[in-house]
Amino acid sequence: MSNLQIIVPVFNEQEVVDLFYEKMKQILATCDVNWTLLFVDDGSTDGTVQHIEFLRHKDDRIGFITLSRNFGKEYALTAGLDHANADVVVVIDVDLQDPPELIPLMLDEWHNGFDVVYATRKAREGETFIKKATASWFYKIINKMSNISIPKDTGDYRLMDIKAVKAINKLRESNRFMKGIFAWVGYKQKAIYFDRKERAAGTTKFNFRKLFSFAVDGITSFSYVPLRFATWIGTLVALLSFAYGIKVIVKALIFGGDPQGYPTMMVVILFLGGIQLMALGIIGEYLGRLFEENKQRPLYLIDKYQPPTNEVSDKLDPRLREDDSL
Ligand code: UDP
Ligand code: MG
Repeated sequence: MSNLQIIVPVFNEQEVVDLFYEKMKQILATCDVNWTLLFVDDGSTDGTVQHIEFLRHKDDRIGFITLSRNFGKEYALTAGLDHANADVVVVIDVDLQDPPELIPLMLDEWHNGFDVVYATRKAREGETFIKKATASWFYKIINKMSNISIPKDTGDYRLMDIKAVKAINKLRESNRFMKGIFAWVGYKQKAIYFDRKERAAGTTKFNFRKLFSFAVDGITSFSYVPLRFATWIGTLVALLSFAYGIKVIVKALIFGGDPQGYPTMMVVILFLGGIQLMALGIIGEYLGRLFEENKQRPLYLIDKYQPPTNEVSDKLDPRLREDDSL
């Protein structure tokens, strides 16, 4: 029988942890696998860790990692994937917005030979019009700008063969745009479709500001197009200015007269100033990320690691052991 590990990032989720476990247990009972559950606590300040520890006492198939503080979902997920120990791994949110009912279907596709089976949502229940619209623009923009293809309306919920997980674990960039990283590694991928529900309990940990910086992260870590855009705009403006300059000179030579054009001058100065600042801003976005990557800090710090105790063997890549600062 194959070994399946479910990896679940959690951050202040005491309301749903037990619910999630019960549901998961029920569904996994119908699958023909040895399963373990690895929670990654992303610096929760409520009773989440106590809930998990309690569950672990009852069920030795549960393990957990606690991070030293809140690093963000991507980093929690990375910590979990670095410690993945199974033939096949499923990454899922704890709030039951990713229906665990899909896991048997994902396993079927895995048995059919697919290495990555991701869940794409058909409907986005309980989300505002604005969130839906911005999400849809985001996918359009990023797929145009980068040379990887990121499936639309697909979150992190997916099943991955251990070879895909190992490939992902080789990508140590500190800007962890997971949608991009998942797409970048390739392998035989397959989508299955589902209706995304509202959260079972608790509240979303994402707000507009976070989503915006998420989008900028995504674009800057997989595309140079904004930099090239700055070059294009610069070239275009230079050409136009040249033409306009000729016009001004010719006019002055032929007609002479008083120097005029205060409004034109103001417009041109402000416009160019704006464009220069924008280009600098774009360069700054990349430079800042370069700085961040260059520091080569560990992606996360672990406080405690309690693996599921019925794990079969420790197959972890030794290189990763050193990286994860345990
Ligand atoms: N999460 C996390 N760290 C964070 C924020 C969220 O580990 O800083 C976890 C959270 O506990 C949940 C998952 O990531 O399991 C998705 O979070 P959420 O439901 O808030 O996001 P949404 O579904 O609204 O995109
Ligand atoms: Mg959610």
